[in-house]
Amino acid sequence: MLPDRDTAGQTGGSPFIHLAAVTKSYQTGRRSIAALQDVDLDISAGEWLAILGPSGCGKSTLLNLLSGIDRPTSGTVEIDGLDLSRMSEDQLARWRRQAVGIVFQFFQLMPTLTAIENVRLPMDLSGRHSQRDRAVRLLQQVGLDGLADHLPNELSGGEQQRVAIARALANEPALILADEPTGNLDSAAGQRVLGLVAEMWRAGKTIILVTHDHNVADYASRVIEMRDGRIVSDRRGTEHPTPTTDLLRAAG
Ligand code: ADP
Ligand code: MG
Repeated sequence: MLPDRDTAGQTGGSPFIHLAAVTKSYQTGRRSIAALQDVDLDISAGEWLAILGPSGCGKSTLLNLLSGIDRPTSGTVEIDGLDLSRMSEDQLARWRRQAVGIVFQFFQLMPTLTAIENVRLPMDLSGRHSQRDRAVRLLQQVGLDGLADHLPNELSGGEQQRVAIARALANEPALILADEPTGNLDSAAGQRVLGLVAEMWRAGKTIILVTHDHNVADYASRVIEMRDGRIVSDRRGTEHPTPTTDLLRAAG
């Protein structure tokens, strides 16, 4: 069960995602590394936010706090009225399976499961009756109709990433987190994956996409740049995000 919203600290009228004074430090031996320092960030539902910055600046750490995979050292992370810091590990795991779709740079598919089994897995784990028809539709949506019964190692990198996107959509999450989703793909496969991200955004998902590629960030409705664990710039696209017709066509 999700925690009761009142006891989980619902704050009426707040943005979809609210980070306040978030700090994350890692202790390695006697050294303490400040991966995030005093980060304040509000994100509205339906935004496509790109997080840009060099390796080591804290991008993945930030995503891990947003998915509840990790907890801040101090500060608060609220999503959709839920204060993640007040949730138990079990509550976080259940919430994540239902509310968040995650796409990684190296796909992270289960190597012994076929494409369609990978897509059905989150449905099974969330106790939702695994729906073969829905998994088939999701694979069609990402252009992999014929490859449902292939194992990950029988698929190209771009195809594996498209399976991962179908998997991320399995439980109809409102929030999609993507960590360098095109970082390991050639440009054609990368464009196609971005086209699918644009489709998810158009369908109303909130998208948070980490990248160190300015060209990738340009498609977002808002771009924040990070350096040394801090947000150093925050800019919005002109009016609407710019998933061009070309990009959406690339998805097909
Ligand atoms: P990015 O994704 O922008 O490359 P990360 O968020 O992965 O950066 O890392 C930010 C900083 O935190 C880096 O200095 C990294 O070495 C450090 N870091 C990340 N995860 C850990 C960890 N589990 N243990 C120790 N240090 C870590
Ligand atoms: Mg990273």
